[in-house]
Amino acid sequence: MAIQYWRIRDRYYRLIGSRCGACGSEFFPPVYRCKKCGSEDIADREMPRTGKILTHTLLHEPLPGFEALAPFYLAVVKLDNGAKVLTQIVDSPPDAVKSGAKVRAVVRRAKVDGDSGQIFYGYKFVVE
Ligand SMILES: [Zn+2]
Repeated sequence: MAIQYWRIRDRYYRLIGSRCGACGSEFFPPVYRCKKCGSEDIADREMPRTGKILTHTLLHEPLPGFEALAPFYLAVVKLDNGAKVLTQIVDSPPDAVKSGAKVRAVVRRAKVDGDSGQIFYGYKFVVE
């Protein structure tokens, strides 16, 4: 688990997604085949770190491993390039978390591995 995390951690820190060489669509998380045109001409692409909240919900019973964070806002953010990210909204007043709110990506502690004590970081978003 830890080795795999370190191998792919760039993707968490830098929001690496995909860009289709045929139609120009961008996706996050990365894809191997374009969801719009089906092309396999796909390259890594760093995503913009800003976007807007499309939809959100306040989670009281998150997935196993994330209980300590509850309750928290889970949102679908549409990045400025059109790619969509499922993410946590943090450090924002509750009345600011709403559809259309402008957000930007930040790096925050995501979870602590109980066995090793290793701290995992990942991207989350804050309302601007
Ligand atoms: Zn395409």
